[in-house]
Amino acid sequence: ATMPPLLSAIATAGRHGVLIKSAVVMERLGQIDAVALDKTGTLTEGTPRLAAIRPLSGSGLDDDGLLALAAAAEHPSEHPLARAVVDAARDRRLDLPAVGDFSSTPGIGVTATVAGSDVTVGAPARVRAASEAEGIAARAAVIAGELEGGGHTAVVVHRDGRPVGVLGIADRLRPDAAATVTALGRLTGSSPMLLTGDNPRAAALLASEVGITDVRAGLLPQDKVTAVKEAEQAGRRVLVVGDGVNDAPALAAAHTGIAMGRAGSDLTLETADAVVVRDELSTVPTAVRLSLRARRLVV
Ligand code: ADP
Ligand code: MG
Repeated sequence: ATMPPLLSAIATAGRHGVLIKSAVVMERLGQIDAVALDKTGTLTEGTPRLAAIRPLSGSGLDDDGLLALAAAAEHPSEHPLARAVVDAARDRRLDLPAVGDFSSTPGIGVTATVAGSDVTVGAPARVRAASEAEGIAARAAVIAGELEGGGHTAVVVHRDGRPVGVLGIADRLRPDAAATVTALGRLTGSSPMLLTGDNPRAAALLASEVGITDVRAGLLPQDKVTAVKEAEQAGRRVLVVGDGVNDAPALAAAHTGIAMGRAGSDLTLETADAVVVRDELSTVPTAVRLSLRARRLVV
């Protein structure tokens, strides 16, 4: 059988666990000369665990009370951090209060009505500004800073506009993260960058573990797009690898976008040009290599 090289490369990529959506994508993959990687769910396993529960004094909440409140608000969310909070509440067999009016903002957090109160769970830097109670907010910020210094993602829980506690959530690096960063660096001749909505401290710690020096943290989904567009305006053809709804706009803006399939949201999987279906990051450089080989056969 003499299948055209690009189609046969798609079949091979599929056997390695990457679904390439078209021959055009298979061809474009070999043109990339820059890479931008998301952190949570992409360089990390994306199954974060709750690691710290810190109710603020004066909140009237104990560990279980804070966790139940946060888990109720996070329950409808599909974000990996939300899963960590809900799973921890389930492990402790907590009864979750009823939730209404849920909404989520990618890269920021969630808001819901829980037992008659407005509850938000989200990134410390962004929710702090919304808090009127300054002394309490300062205490929450100190706790969040301590947790972040330890490599955790801290999320602050607010009830009716006041911080009531902080949760620390920790994720594991994928075992093939560092090797993948090295491989992509070699294949593209440029060092990959990290684009994350998470805090700068946790981002820097993780970046040093995988050998990334170009770190952009605290980014909203639109900021990820800006970073990609800047690189493309400088003449780079950027491969973006991400998993969350927060990555969808950047995947769309990229020369080529690859989504991590396991934790990936529907929108992300649809937007991406290719999807990693076997949950291994090292399949990404494999797909790039297959494209380079097929292109040599085509031209
Ligand atoms: P990344 O870019 O590393 O994948 P995200 O953009 O998804 O991270 O999230 C960025 C930050 O926004 C998180 O670190 C967290 O502080 C906050 N956040 C987003 N979604 C949620 C959520 N469901 N619950 C709590 N915090 C959230
Ligand atoms: Mg992510």
